[in-house]
Amino acid sequence: MIQTEEPCPCMSEMSYGECCRRFHEYAEKPDTAAELMRSRYTAYYLGLVDYLVKTTHPDKLQPNYRSLLEKTKNNTKWIGLEVLSSSMGKKTDKIGKVHFVARYAEDSKEHLMEEHSRFRRYRGGWVYYDAAG
Ligand SMILES: [Zn+2]
Repeated sequence: MIQTEEPCPCMSEMSYGECCRRFHEYAEKPDTAAELMRSRYTAYYLGLVDYLVKTTHPDKLQPNYRSLLEKTKNNTKWIGLEVLSSSMGKKTDKIGKVHFVARYAEDSKEHLMEEHSRFRRYRGGWVYYDAAG
């Protein structure tokens, strides 16, 4: 786990308590797709499987997603996130796109993941929809 006053893993330069924690505790919903994206990165970092499942659009939820997360969460180490750009995804939008680069290590080998993620509004919040390279 992580202490409230520690820097948030999503590299927002805020503390975890000021940043992604309120979303992970379902106290608030992210206003923007970019915030949701950051909170999902931090959920990967912390191994918050439920949060990742709940913030995926039901139409896009793979039946093995949960078990895959459970299996990989202990040997994947998330190293860093950089949000390069985002479009739409604001308070009044229905869809949003976020371009980001995330770095992680698996079996002590470092990988780079670059994604254009698409997000949609669902039940008053943002959820992850799908991604294009
Ligand atoms: Zn954060």
